[in-house]
Amino acid sequence: MVALVGCGDYSFHIYVYKMQDRWYNLQINLEITLYTHLEKISLEEGVQVILNNLHMKPKQERVTLGNNTCHVTSLRLRTFALKGTSCYICNLKATHFSVDIQYDGQAPHLNLWGSNPDGELTLFTHDHVLARSLGGKDKIENTKTCCTICNFEKAKLERIEVAKRHAQKRVHLEESVV
Ligand SMILES: [Zn+2]
Repeated sequence: MVALVGCGDYSFHIYVYKMQDRWYNLQINLEITLYTHLEKISLEEGVQVILNNLHMKPKQERVTLGNNTCHVTSLRLRTFALKGTSCYICNLKATHFSVDIQYDGQAPHLNLWGSNPDGELTLFTHDHVLARSLGGKDKIENTKTCCTICNFEKAKLERIEVAKRHAQKRVHLEESVV
């Protein structure tokens, strides 16, 4: 009976882990399959266009990139240009920018891409070093370039930390009530 319970717990644990793993992989695959790459832009050109438009307010106007126009003023893109094009956690180096759309009719936007050690296309993003959920600011001082795999793993740890803090707060409140 004990063995059965243990087995059940163990299976459940693996099942949940696999579910998370599948979801994780699905996320990565979605990034690859749902993007339509309209045009490849070199790292140098992409960074230069972002730097040339640092004076512009966010979403002020679109700039021409090859045959398309994109906004280049987001904190995400400014992080790539100002903090570098490698993941600050695993050091994966981006190889190029791409003007992409995720679905028909969406305005093209600029993404940063690289290849992981297995040769799979990997999307880059900007990570809030101190997560916003833990009080971090949505400012360039608090962002670094990060591959989506590291960003996803870090976010999982941050969710655990947020949950711990909520639990501590609850215990504190309960103690103060008593
Ligand atoms: Zn990484």
